[in-house]
Amino acid sequence: MKKTVVIGAGFGGLALAIRLQAAGIATLLLEQRDKPGGRAYVYQEQGFTFDAGPTVITDPTALFELFELAGKSIEDYVELLPVKPFYRLCWENGKVFDYDNDQAELDRQILAFNPADVQGYQRFLAYSQAVFKEGYLKLGTVPFLSFKDMLHAAPQLGRLQAWRSVYSKVASYIQDEHLRQAFSFHSLLVGGNPFATSSIYTLIHALEREWGVWFPRGGTGALVQGLVKLFQDLGGELLLNAKVDRIDCVDQRITQVTLEDGREFSVAAIASNADVVNTYRHLLRGHQSSEEYAEQLVKKRMSNSLFVLYFGLNHHHDQLAHHTVCFGPRYRELIDEIFNHDGLAEDFSLYLHAPCVTDPSLAPEGCGSYYVLAPVPHLGTAALDWKVEGPKLRDKIFAYLEEHYMPGLRSQLVVQRMFTPFDFRDQLQAWQGSAFSIEPILTQSAWFRPHNRDKTLKNLYLVGAGTHPGAGVPGVLGSAKATAGLMIEDKHG
Ligand SMILES: Cc1cc2nc3c(=O)[nH]c(=O)nc-3n(C[C@H](O)[C@H](O)[C@H](O)COP(=O)(O)OP(=O)(O)OC[C@H]3O[C@@H](n4cnc5c(N)ncnc54)[C@H](O)[C@@H]3O)c2cc1C
Repeated sequence: MKKTVVIGAGFGGLALAIRLQAAGIATLLLEQRDKPGGRAYVYQEQGFTFDAGPTVITDPTALFELFELAGKSIEDYVELLPVKPFYRLCWENGKVFDYDNDQAELDRQILAFNPADVQGYQRFLAYSQAVFKEGYLKLGTVPFLSFKDMLHAAPQLGRLQAWRSVYSKVASYIQDEHLRQAFSFHSLLVGGNPFATSSIYTLIHALEREWGVWFPRGGTGALVQGLVKLFQDLGGELLLNAKVDRIDCVDQRITQVTLEDGREFSVAAIASNADVVNTYRHLLRGHQSSEEYAEQLVKKRMSNSLFVLYFGLNHHHDQLAHHTVCFGPRYRELIDEIFNHDGLAEDFSLYLHAPCVTDPSLAPEGCGSYYVLAPVPHLGTAALDWKVEGPKLRDKIFAYLEEHYMPGLRSQLVVQRMFTPFDFRDQLQAWQGSAFSIEPILTQSAWFRPHNRDKTLKNLYLVGAGTHPGAGVPGVLGSAKATAGLMIEDKHG
């Protein structure tokens, strides 16, 4: 029997599979790894739980919608805990900014940095809210299939000065350099260079102010498990250890997928949550228009990669916030090197995750689970040998954290593991080892991004970070909504 197949159980693939199943389309979800989640994979070791990827959960309404569609209540599947402060931002000169939703507290802190910026921040917030309405609420789940859709959105994008970068827009309202960094770094969470990415991405700030920052009890992996259960409760079928090796077509229609182990499935329609370049370049090899499209895709700018260290300590550092951004000595120059230069910078900025602050159950009693990540160039920007660079960078980062944030760290280590650009490439087939797929610059966004439905193959769809609207959990959940709408409308099989 022909099946509707989703390749990949990342947040995008899972959300799409739930939407299809809830619409009465029997869906088979094929995941290559032994666990679902994709970038939200989970490592468990000696009583420590490490979420591999997303930890800042925003826009819970996009999650609620999935459960509502299925006639279920999210509380029966997963509990979302509020995170306070949203983030702690720290600089090497000792300055600290606790970014949160409490306006009086924000004003008090901004005043201490620079009194003029209290007013400037209000104007920035109003701008960010306007972008949020246009860019997220109106366009975030609309598939941009034709250039006409883009022209339709152009006047609003023009009015909001979408051609300007995130940083330049923030800097037009805010004077203090620390605060400029505090309100512009967000695009890095979805692989966007704040100095190059469209100011549309300032919407992340309004989105966080609107709906808060959340963390699932049990970690992001508990949210993934909740989504898997929802899909299965709806009758959906998930196959793990099911790596798709090729997608076959006849007369511009996909007919079959074949797994690496030889299993074959006849297909009514297919959506790929796998890396978009890999989908066209490898899975659809031998198909002419796909190979031609792959040639175009490999010329696109990819987002940066990440170097991630997961570590468990026999000590709980209760001085830390749940999310800390540790700004290094340079901001603009460092980001420029990460996105544009061959080689690895001497310095770094870090994001430090301390989930036991919100949920101590993620480590044995008295202990702490952590991860720290540094944005690094992808393999096309800097062809580094991460087998050599990884351990060197690990040692530098541990020494730095011990000196500035976590006294005694190295003597408290119980478990540790690394994830480098090589792992993004080899474990997730991410083109150039990019952590966030195609870079979200204006000329690679909306209609300019790979579309949610293929132009030639009538029953091929995309979902996830490589398609519209882009990376980040809210982004890929939005892509699932856009893609599901098309698949349900097209009625295959
Ligand atoms: C370290 C890190 C931290 C992040 N932090 C945040 C955060 O705090 N907040 C936030 O919103 N976003 C964050 N992001 C971004 C966010 O995690 C991603 O953009 C999002 O999860 C990507 O989801 P996706 O659906 O595109 O697919 P992915 O998560 O990439 O999943 C794709 C799936 O497809 C599978 N697959 C690939 N090829 C095949 C094949 N041939 N056959 C079968 N299966 C296949 C893969 O194994 C994978 O499971 C972070 C990303 C990283 C890497």
